[in-house]
Amino acid sequence: MINSFAELPGTLIAGLRFLFFPDRDFLQKKYEDHRRFTIIVSAFLSVLWAALWGWDWVIDPVGADNTVVLRLFFLVALAYSLTLYFIRKSSSWLTIITVVGMLAAEANFILILNHLDNGIVYGLGGFMYCMFIAVLVFQCFSLITNIIYTLSATLLPHLAGELAIADNFQHFQYAALIWPAALLAIVTQVVQSHHYLLRYKLERQLEALSTTDALTGARNRRYFIPLLAKEIRRAKRTGQKLSLLMLDIDMFKRVNDTYGHLTGDRVIHNVSVIGHQFARDIDVVARLGGEEFAILLTACDQQQAVQVAERIRSAIASVTMYSEDKAVFSYTVSIGVAELEESDKDERCFLGRADSALYEAKESGRNRVVLATDVKGVFNSRNRALTSENSECPES
Ligand code: GH3
Ligand code: MG
Ligand code: MG
Repeated sequence: MINSFAELPGTLIAGLRFLFFPDRDFLQKKYEDHRRFTIIVSAFLSVLWAALWGWDWVIDPVGADNTVVLRLFFLVALAYSLTLYFIRKSSSWLTIITVVGMLAAEANFILILNHLDNGIVYGLGGFMYCMFIAVLVFQCFSLITNIIYTLSATLLPHLAGELAIADNFQHFQYAALIWPAALLAIVTQVVQSHHYLLRYKLERQLEALSTTDALTGARNRRYFIPLLAKEIRRAKRTGQKLSLLMLDIDMFKRVNDTYGHLTGDRVIHNVSVIGHQFARDIDVVARLGGEEFAILLTACDQQQAVQVAERIRSAIASVTMYSEDKAVFSYTVSIGVAELEESDKDERCFLGRADSALYEAKESGRNRVVLATDVKGVFNSRNRALTSENSECPES
């Protein structure tokens, strides 16, 4: 958002820099979103260029005998389409191969025209296709790639003419027809890329909004539960330790009742701030609802997890809070800790064990950390809401 004219140049420069030199995530998303389109367009162009042998025959039936093989070369683009079907990751190599491949197709076209009587005159319009390639095929690459290709494709026939590779090449006629088309192609690409960038940014904002808790800025349940499921699968595959903290504010109803909901909200926010302070970058802090948080600690066993939980608990217990009417108070939290076990069939089982430990912490006096492996016989007493009724999680 631009708030003043003074910010305009800086914002424009930043926007242009991103448009021309975007980051890897943007390029990957652009590639994913346009890959199918590029596959279809390049397959279509491949067949069309091969079939345009018919045009060679119309220009020069005798010379057309010599262009059959060259026309068949265009079918290589079908192999390119097929390969792209399997390549899901954007890379510099793919970009370079595409640029070189499409320029090679243009060079092939020049060779075809050489075989035809007055070919370069009749075939001049054929170079227009190169401009379409830029706009269509290269949609899945960066704008700068697009522009480099367009300029190279525009200059290549001039070079071939200079080196006497293109017979009777008319620089002026070619320039009069193709240069304006190249300019239009570049303008189209800039506009399209700009629109795609706006869409990308909006999607990112929506994604952030739908996965973030508005009050605390922590991740929300919608983000956390699928992530937990994914991390469990990964930890089981790699054998890496994974621990989970379930945290609930003690006697929070009393905070709300005594100091009001606004103060209550600030307390919830404070838990998130302290949770983030003690979590590493690779950990995930999420507000699962109300005044309940979960913290996922990757590459962390239960001893380390208990240490983190203890630090969070004691940091919170020593914080001084101020209510709206300046009353001073403090608050505490209870934390349940669980390390992923082989018997945790899914995220509900894992969450259920951490929640049982939290329940035990509440039962045994609050303001404490309890480890799931120290809990006996309370599994499923509280976690009905988290685990489904027919959950097959084993009893602890
Ligand atoms: P316990 O120690 O057993 O956890 O006691 P508690 O009072 O904290 O009990 P409980 O967890 O059931 O209380 C949750 C309260 O949290 C009830 C609800 O009014 C309050 N609450 C839930 N969401 C919000 C919120 O977004 N803001 C505020 N201020 N309060 C909330
Ligand atoms: Mg509570
Ligand atoms: Mg609660």
